[in-house]
Amino acid sequence: MNTVQLIPIMPRSGIYLSAHGHGDDGRFARLFKETWLALPLSARRRLLRHWWHDKRRGIGGFWGTPTTTSPTIELLSGWFRTESALWEALDGMPDEEPPFAQTFGGGHTLRFWSTAVDQMPDDLVRRLIAHELAHVHQFACGRLRVDCEADAGQLACCWGYSGEPIREWADRRRKKPCRYERQGNSKSEII
Ligand SMILES: [Zn+2]
Repeated sequence: MNTVQLIPIMPRSGIYLSAHGHGDDGRFARLFKETWLALPLSARRRLLRHWWHDKRRGIGGFWGTPTTTSPTIELLSGWFRTESALWEALDGMPDEEPPFAQTFGGGHTLRFWSTAVDQMPDDLVRRLIAHELAHVHQFACGRLRVDCEADAGQLACCWGYSGEPIREWADRRRKKPCRYERQGNSKSEII
């Protein structure tokens, strides 16, 4: 049976890491806390209000199902992207890899891919966390635009966390052109 432990990130604010043991949960929780504390106070308050408000109303869980825990933050080796497609972290199958992170369920569930996170230096993990928190901020502000990836990237950049080094790292890791460039798409394939 899979036992999930809660590792405190900001316990007084109700922020914990649901530790599944798929990666270095302790390190990730520490980096999440560092990133969180570096955000502007106004942004932190807005995110907390969003998480707490929807939690009281009992909405906003994964795929909009009721939840009693918000946010849910996880470091996972893979997850279902849709009901028909399983993203698994398998070496040699780069096109089948999950994105490095995704924010689901109205900004209440944040998932990070343990394989990539464990390979990234601390600085990149902080940038990745900031990018996902920027997505939560979009939900909190009702700012869900078509170009939400560019918008999130811009906001994270304002917080001091440009996403460019992550994309450069992804290029080096895969030793081939970045997926978003090959597909002429946004960086949403990566983060
Ligand atoms: Zn994104």
